[in-house]
Amino acid sequence: MTVPDNCPPRYPSTGISVLIVGAGVAGLMAALEGWRNGHDVRIIERAPEQVTTGDSFTIGPTALRALCHWPQMAEENDRISHSPAISFHTMTGAPITAPTLVKYTQGSDPKGMSNHIIRHWRPRFHDMLRKQLLAIGIPVEYGHRAVEYFEDGPAGRAGVVLEDGARLEADVVVAADGIGSHSTAVTLGRELRARPAGESMYRTSFPVELAMADPMVRKRFPPVEGDGNIELWAGPTIRFFIERTADTMCWIMSHKNDDSAVESWSNKTDPEEVLKLTATIPDWPEVADRLIRLTPKDRLLHFRLMWRDPQPSWVSPAGRIVQIGDAAHTYVPASGNGATQGLEDAISLATCLRIAGQTDQAPWALRIHNKLRFVRVSCLQKLGLINQHNHSRVVKQEQGQPTTLKYLTAEWVWKHNPEPYAEENYNKVLDHLQRGTPFQDTNTPRGHVYRDWTIDEIMAVQERGEEVELDGEWE
Ligand SMILES: Cc1cc2nc3c(=O)[nH]c(=O)nc-3n(C[C@H](O)[C@H](O)[C@H](O)COP(=O)(O)OP(=O)(O)OC[C@H]3O[C@@H](n4cnc5c(N)ncnc54)[C@H](O)[C@@H]3O)c2cc1C
Repeated sequence: MTVPDNCPPRYPSTGISVLIVGAGVAGLMAALEGWRNGHDVRIIERAPEQVTTGDSFTIGPTALRALCHWPQMAEENDRISHSPAISFHTMTGAPITAPTLVKYTQGSDPKGMSNHIIRHWRPRFHDMLRKQLLAIGIPVEYGHRAVEYFEDGPAGRAGVVLEDGARLEADVVVAADGIGSHSTAVTLGRELRARPAGESMYRTSFPVELAMADPMVRKRFPPVEGDGNIELWAGPTIRFFIERTADTMCWIMSHKNDDSAVESWSNKTDPEEVLKLTATIPDWPEVADRLIRLTPKDRLLHFRLMWRDPQPSWVSPAGRIVQIGDAAHTYVPASGNGATQGLEDAISLATCLRIAGQTDQAPWALRIHNKLRFVRVSCLQKLGLINQHNHSRVVKQEQGQPTTLKYLTAEWVWKHNPEPYAEENYNKVLDHLQRGTPFQDTNTPRGHVYRDWTIDEIMAVQERGEEVELDGEWE
């Protein structure tokens, strides 16, 4: 197959075959960057066809920098991304802060990338990656559900068993199959299921003109030009998030779990269900109920948030299977990092395999990638929990923008670049793993010393009204 001119040059072939399981954003990016770095890539997905549900997420510059290699995607990304102004409100919608463009705090990007928080509609971003993959001749193979992972160390192979009993094999298997991945049965020796986080979300996005049909809604949420805006309404147990651009209206209501929510991007529900909840909120404004009522019935999801404690080991014992994205680490939405860290994983992994250069070195590449990524990922998971807690607290204290935004926009968060980071540190980590030479991460807060932590531990600190300890320079 001839590759179009506007695709990046490939590194020389490593001869390493890579089977990617799951075509979410992390899996798609792993396939793209895997191809660019010279590996033989195949990608499977359980869904029978591309899934187009979902609303929005934040993608940081650390992941978007990789698009400098992909001119077609860089151009499309400019069209489909937006940098909304963000304002904080009480649970009745009264403003606490003025709409502000949230900026990454320190310095500017040498390559001229926007230093504002960048949002994407997930279906458009996902489609951009999928189209690019098709353009380089790698179609996603839909309708392949992996039910079991296996590896054969001496043979230097790994694989998956599919639902229909078929077995697929490669030199390296990348588990990019999200939060319910079966790969932990091999990486940890047991299936580790995610557990409910205690919260569910009603969430939707739909064409903005449907919302503008109601005059009261139109007056409160007038049409916006350009990058749009986000309102964050917060009360003690419920949060309401409204994001608008010139063509899309999105709202998400987070609330305490109930049994009708499941961890699925296709669990649809009726807007009337949400109105039962809003009827319990004191002084809840009529205009918000009207907005909810205007939501098309087939566009509203009831999503249960699930999580797992930070898990340091993402690689199988023989080093042939590696987890990336949500399969390796879960994030709460307030972290603004689920997609970004999955994309960073994909870039780092493809680079490490390129440096390894041949299949017998691949296990070291996987272990080095894991070591380069884990502490950073865990720090950002912790910031997500802190940020989520502070959304509610800020409203009580009427202080303005939550202080943790300054952590999430700190230099160590946004200046990181996973490809050169892997290039600079690969051999140092190899020495560290093989000979015990000390290695210090530099993609984490300076001075931070990692120690194991659990979500329950962090929440217990917050429930006692204490601050979560952040050692080192986090802002
Ligand atoms: C359809 C969909 C819509 C989403 N919408 C949003 C959103 O609006 N906002 C937001 O913040 N996050 C959303 N997410 C989650 C978000 O994309 C991830 O949290 C984050 O980007 C990390 O991506 P990931 O690729 O690791 O995981 P995911 O995006 O969850 O991708 C995992 C992929 O693996 C596939 N898969 C799962 N199990 C198997 C299996 N056994 N065999 C083969 N394939 C399998 C899944 O179908 C999925 O395509 C959505 C996820 C999906 C799947």
